[in-house]
Amino acid sequence: MSSLCSNHGHCGFCYITVVRIGNNVRMGAASINTASSTPSSPDVDVAIVGAGFAGLYMLHRARQTGFTARVFERGGGVGGTWYWNRYPGARCDVPSLEYSYQFSDELQQEWEWSEKYATQPEILRYAEHVADRFNLRRDISFNTTVTSLQWNGDVWRVATQSSDDTDQHRQGVALTARFVVLATGCLSSANIPRFPDDHLFAGRTYHTGAWPHEGVDFTGQRVAVFGTGSSGIQSIPLIAKQAAHLTVMQRTPAYSIPARNQQLSPEYVADIKANYAEFRRKNSLTRAALGGDTPTGPHGACEVSEDERRAALEARWQKGGLLFLGAFNDALTNPESNRLIADFVRDKIRSTVHDPDTARKLTPDSIIGCKRLCVDTEYYDTFNRPNVSLIDLREQPVERFTAKGIVVQNAAGTSHDESSTSGSSRRVEHEFDSIVFATGFDAMTGAISKIDITGRDGRTLSDAWSAGPVNYLGLSVHGFPNLFTITGPGSPSVLTNMIVSIQHHVEWIADCISWMKVNHSPTIEADADAQDRWVQHVNTVAGMTLYQSCSSWYLGTNVPGKPRVFMPLPGFPAYAQTCADIAHDGYRGFHT
Ligand SMILES: Cc1cc2nc3c(=O)[nH]c(=O)nc-3n(C[C@H](O)[C@H](O)[C@H](O)COP(=O)(O)OP(=O)(O)OC[C@H]3O[C@@H](n4cnc5c(N)ncnc54)[C@H](O)[C@@H]3O)c2cc1C
Repeated sequence: MSSLCSNHGHCGFCYITVVRIGNNVRMGAASINTASSTPSSPDVDVAIVGAGFAGLYMLHRARQTGFTARVFERGGGVGGTWYWNRYPGARCDVPSLEYSYQFSDELQQEWEWSEKYATQPEILRYAEHVADRFNLRRDISFNTTVTSLQWNGDVWRVATQSSDDTDQHRQGVALTARFVVLATGCLSSANIPRFPDDHLFAGRTYHTGAWPHEGVDFTGQRVAVFGTGSSGIQSIPLIAKQAAHLTVMQRTPAYSIPARNQQLSPEYVADIKANYAEFRRKNSLTRAALGGDTPTGPHGACEVSEDERRAALEARWQKGGLLFLGAFNDALTNPESNRLIADFVRDKIRSTVHDPDTARKLTPDSIIGCKRLCVDTEYYDTFNRPNVSLIDLREQPVERFTAKGIVVQNAAGTSHDESSTSGSSRRVEHEFDSIVFATGFDAMTGAISKIDITGRDGRTLSDAWSAGPVNYLGLSVHGFPNLFTITGPGSPSVLTNMIVSIQHHVEWIADCISWMKVNHSPTIEADADAQDRWVQHVNTVAGMTLYQSCSSWYLGTNVPGKPRVFMPLPGFPAYAQTCADIAHDGYRGFHT
């Protein structure tokens, strides 16, 4: 294996324990909030950005394998997604018994999930339990945003900014680290669309991904919710029950499958726990690393009679959840099969929503599953409530915001008419007390691109990714030695049960740096050719599916100006096998 980077003559890594003394993070006797560290003796082995499920496990695993590590977290606590997304109705849509770590049998045996799909508070409690159980907090700097990462030819220099003004010692803490792991989350950088005059609105605004910790009481309020993806679909039914009136502002209708959430019975849980390892193994063999007990049907949707098709789809609809799409094995590869499956859901929407015009607006005409499938509790029924109305933004685009609300164009409605039938278009001002943006995230690359990352030869990551993200295995970028991304673009990531993908990446990275230690390899970096081939592979696999046939956050089209590139790689088992083979071959495709 060739060496791209100069070796500065030292061998192995630095294994000095970092301890927190008062407000100072200290390394032995030398404070690390200075730039005094020599390149060859990094302050820590591994700097980890983010304390969600990825960062927490990376810290634990790094320690277990004998490395020192420090985690930097923008938020005031652990949990990542589940720390920030406290909106009403927030919960997982992968069953709780699967949406949890499997690295510790003691942990998975002792933790009790109460519902099929755990709520945000319960998942946050779980993350906090993990942090306490494995004594992780002492190596986490909270309220600390990593602002820049500079490779100096030997180590990464990490610059941070603290939001805690009272703690002078944490302002701009910088440390050096042999490795950096970006555990920054795929859905952690909020996407808030801009509208003309939006600064004028005098009411309150919220983003579901940065929800106030004290909660929001919408009682008696006129509320608008922008967005009908997963967060909108989870929150709309609950906000509707509280608000005086709820107006849903919909850009694109979504397909949503009933969750059929329920309390978990002790017998069911005991059954799973008695054989948890096998349950996990079966799940990891499925394409999305979930639902091993409900395998994908053996046929294509066009290969069976209409009666059989309807029966199979009805059974999955009654069972509820994301596995609906697994009724047939060609849902995301055969457009005709997809249409038949989508027709089934479209019929369900029409038979649920009483008002035909509202049902029409709520009925998608796109490929089902092309955008992330949603899972709901009473979403479509909510539109039968007298206090809920729907504005289809394709028919009635927002013209501007006002102090009191939102003016939409081409409205057929009559209320609050601005009498502005000027020109050919009518305008209606809708008044609101609060506006909720359930508009999702700058997915997969958003949080990474907010960090100023400079790699070898002064090349920046924003430059390397200017036409869209490129990397090798979704883990490593050519030109950026010793930098790893967890669930990065180019890996199965958001197309899977993410905790499975997170755990897989963490273990691969920990094994890799352990291998480097044993082999006295100070640096590892993706080879340019291997990276090119990987990018081609991801495109080829994605091109065999229907994923690219509609605009979605998988493609980055929800963020103005973002390059249109399909980011995740479909198919967990084949991917995991490839990663294992590459490691087995002495990290084929990497320079060390
Ligand atoms: C509402 C919602 C529901 C979801 N439900 C599911 C589900 O049912 N199943 C599923 O598989 N996945 C689900 N996901 C995806 C979810 O994001 C992952 O499952 C998982 O929680 C991601 O963990 P993570 O640690 O990779 O990232 P995150 O949990 O996003 O954590 C990343 C952390 O990094 C921090 N950070 C980012 N940049 C910086 C920086 N520069 N400096 C310091 N800190 C930084 C952030 O503050 C954040 O706390 C859901 C996501 C959302 C938003």
